[in-house]
Amino acid sequence: MLTLKECDILVVGGGGAGVTAAVLSARAGAKVALVSNDPVGRGDTCIASGIMANGIINAADNPQKFIRDLVLCGEYLNDPSLVSLLVERSGEAVEVLEEFGMVFRRDREGRRVPIPFPLGGHSVARSLVTLTEGNQIGNALRGALYGSDVEVNEEYLITDLITGQDGVVGALGIDLYSGEFLAWSAKSVIIASGGCGALFAPFTSNMRSNTGDGFVLALEAGADLRDMEQAQFIFGISHPESLIGVLCGEPASAGYFGRLLDRDGKEIIKNPGKKTRGQVAAAMAKTISSNKVGPHGGVFLDLSKNRERLGPIYRKVLSLSRKSALDVVRFAYGEREAGCEKPWEVVASFHYHPGGIKVDEQCQSTVRNLYAIGQVQGGLFGSDRLGSVSLTELFVFAKIVAESAVEKVMNMSQPYVDTKKVGKIVESRRWAMGKTGAFRPVELKCRLQKLMYEKVGPVRNGVSLEEALRELACLDDDMKNVSIPSRQDYNTDWIDFLQLQKMIVLARIITRCALERRESRGSHVRTDYPKRDDARWLKTIVVKKDGEEFALHTDPIEHAWRDIESPGLMEQVPARIQGFFVSNLPGGLLRRILKKRLGGFVREDQH
Ligand SMILES: Cc1cc2nc3c(=O)[nH]c(=O)nc-3n(C[C@H](O)[C@H](O)[C@H](O)COP(=O)(O)OP(=O)(O)OC[C@H]3O[C@@H](n4cnc5c(N)ncnc54)[C@H](O)[C@@H]3O)c2cc1C
Repeated sequence: MLTLKECDILVVGGGGAGVTAAVLSARAGAKVALVSNDPVGRGDTCIASGIMANGIINAADNPQKFIRDLVLCGEYLNDPSLVSLLVERSGEAVEVLEEFGMVFRRDREGRRVPIPFPLGGHSVARSLVTLTEGNQIGNALRGALYGSDVEVNEEYLITDLITGQDGVVGALGIDLYSGEFLAWSAKSVIIASGGCGALFAPFTSNMRSNTGDGFVLALEAGADLRDMEQAQFIFGISHPESLIGVLCGEPASAGYFGRLLDRDGKEIIKNPGKKTRGQVAAAMAKTISSNKVGPHGGVFLDLSKNRERLGPIYRKVLSLSRKSALDVVRFAYGEREAGCEKPWEVVASFHYHPGGIKVDEQCQSTVRNLYAIGQVQGGLFGSDRLGSVSLTELFVFAKIVAESAVEKVMNMSQPYVDTKKVGKIVESRRWAMGKTGAFRPVELKCRLQKLMYEKVGPVRNGVSLEEALRELACLDDDMKNVSIPSRQDYNTDWIDFLQLQKMIVLARIITRCALERRESRGSHVRTDYPKRDDARWLKTIVVKKDGEEFALHTDPIEHAWRDIESPGLMEQVPARIQGFFVSNLPGGLLRRILKKRLGGFVREDQH
């Protein structure tokens, strides 16, 4: 007998976006349930480096600058209303996280201080950093959640959204231990299920629970997706095998003097520290496809010149802003590498999915009563995301969704859930239990991941994408020939199978969109169309449900960005002059200037 629970708002996902939306909605008086297949506070938020952009922290900043940086990085695909909201409300994100118990770095007077230089693609220094990272963020989220009235369902996997005449009316999930199904009737469902790094494992910095379910759940319920071809790759550990893909930096980590080299020691891009992630990934893709890579398939990030020119203070800044990266480098490569004396061989590791569920300014999808926030939401970042803005986005849009969803559900009656229809879905999900066949789902999952990295990963082109589609069709066939134990409790093969079904759909969506966009833009880099083509491709690719399948169409982008242009030559002059001085000043003088510039970020007792 299926248990059916009732709530006003059901949140899918226990990361930063989901927990915040759930807690704030409950505080505003809604009856909220949260479901997460991981323990709450896991997901990518719990491994984040804790760097968060804030548009009001630096007097030299203003909304126009922040908007421009976001749009230039997203190469004009960004949704204008979402960008404006983020920039207008970015200051609120830090308040939410501090109220949950995280503390951002401060100077002696107790004022929050940003990392004292602009991260790659930001035109001003606007990124704050938490005193501790990763797990502590997860703990703060757990604390906030368990101190609230939210009904928490940890280690439950949502398999389906339930739809009715009036849009989404609830969701169906499985208790991962008992294998029992449970359904919710909900006036609104908020998807906050994060990204899809598991598709590219092991070449990903993401948690393996991020299989991308949310994109497919939403599509199957009738919601549109956008920009699904975009896939951001940044620096990951190249060896040993157990650490492949773990995040060890991003373009900004290169600092003033860092260089990115191929195996012959040739620079593959100038000034990587000033470039966006998309620009650096494109240079890496070029080097990988010409096979000028190191013994582990990576390129070389050489930070030694920073150390030589700037002295120990450089290491100090790095360790205050990127502690986990240095820790993992030490663990993987050794002490001299962590000391930035020797280069690191880095692979292109999947980090972030800028595309996702299409939403309006209230985070409402194209289906009634279905909302999306966090990494699963699309539109804000267009084709590429600036570093440190994801955390800002999580908390800003979690606040927005809580405000709009709560107001709406207060005037709604509990929706009717057709339990007969849900019973049929349960039967179809149990279909594979007890089947004997040639493949274990985990084998097929590994095949999918290898295929995605090799053919739809950092290096992609028409040939590789067509091959990927053919191999995905074979995988679909092999899914009919799986072996799964018949027992219900703790049946991990069955759970793998259920997740893999959605992963294959998602892989097809990403591949079809990547094939469609015949240009390179942002984090979508095609070796056969290496240039951006505004004449043909200043538009978003939208994915729509079409019967049991999906269809693509393109939407022209609004002209809101027509005045935003890349910095012209004149505008680049001050940065160039600064660059010239930084490169040519004597080391001692440079270090003195730097110390002054670092102000409260590295206090004197920490030099
Ligand atoms: C190593 C690393 C460092 C980073 N550092 C930074 C940084 O310093 N600054 C910054 O701005 N960004 C950073 N990012 C990016 C940022 O951390 C993520 O984009 C963000 O945390 C995503 O939050 P989220 O709430 O959307 O998803 P997540 O935190 O990933 O949470 C998603 C949740 O959904 C659950 N879920 C998924 N599917 C289902 C399902 N079917 N049923 C139930 N539950 C489900 C998962 O279990 C998980 O709990 C970093 C990312 C990584 C990987």
